Amino acid sequence: MLVTFLGTAAANAFPEAFCKCDHCEQARLHGGASLRKRSALLVNDDLLIDLGPDIMAASQMHRCSLTNVRYCLQTHPHADHFDPSHFLSRSPGFGVIGAPELNFYASAETIQRAAMTFERDLADYSLLSVEAEKLLNLAIHTIEPFVPFTFGSYRVIAVPANHAPGMGAMLYAVEANGRSIFYGIDTAELFEQAWQSFIRFNLHFDLVILDHTYGLRESGSDHLSASQFVQHIVRMRREGILKPDGRAFATHIAHQGNPAHADLVEYTRSQGYEVAYDGLILEI
Ligand SMILES: [Zn+2]
Ligand SMILES: [Zn+2]
Ligand SMILES: [Zn+2]
Repeated sequence: MLVTFLGTAAANAFPEAFCKCDHCEQARLHGGASLRKRSALLVNDDLLIDLGPDIMAASQMHRCSLTNVRYCLQTHPHADHFDPSHFLSRSPGFGVIGAPELNFYASAETIQRAAMTFERDLADYSLLSVEAEKLLNLAIHTIEPFVPFTFGSYRVIAVPANHAPGMGAMLYAVEANGRSIFYGIDTAELFEQAWQSFIRFNLHFDLVILDHTYGLRESGSDHLSASQFVQHIVRMRREGILKPDGRAFATHIAHQGNPAHADLVEYTRSQGYEVAYDGLILEI
């Protein structure tokens, strides 16, 4: 599996355009890997995790074509992960001819919110209508937590995130060709039922990507801090959920608690994990 980080920032990007804090000023000075767009992930060239607000910019900047994307796993409907105008921009009506049909997978709550936003702001027809499927070259699939589903060469298990109660936020375990990854943003400490599901479904990840929003700050109720990140990885390694040679990467990086990239790399290396950056490609 090839994994490309299209974005690695939390909700307000990094550097945050309106902010003069030390972290943002350092990130501006260093540029490169310190410049983070809102989080999204590309698996191989056909599976996108999150139809995020910055995927167009990411595609341009990292010369990463999304023309083969035919599957999208949506974590939740927060605006830093979901821009429904992309349904339109990839459609024949916007001049995109011959693109594969997009199979969009999300929880019922996320789909409901997506439909609400789409109809309120973007179109005079329902996102959930037959008309929409045709006009947008789109198939929408409602997924349930802990019920494995498959498409193409992928097998996916959705796990509820400890985040945005009532929005049906999901984290995803994705397996293909004998390799497996876990994409764990946005979330606070994983629910115990998530841990149990890893064991029940016999999941052993080659790559774990986890929320690092708070960084070196105190943790909160909706995301992870660096110390919580470490606790999760230690437990995953101890229980064999992360393979002995598996890699752990931090993403969804906010400017308040995380320094610019070079300093963050130094810190995370000392703690036994790695930090992603925009445009990073991993072969798993
Ligand atoms: Zn987020
Ligand atoms: Zn800042
Ligand atoms: Zn969120």
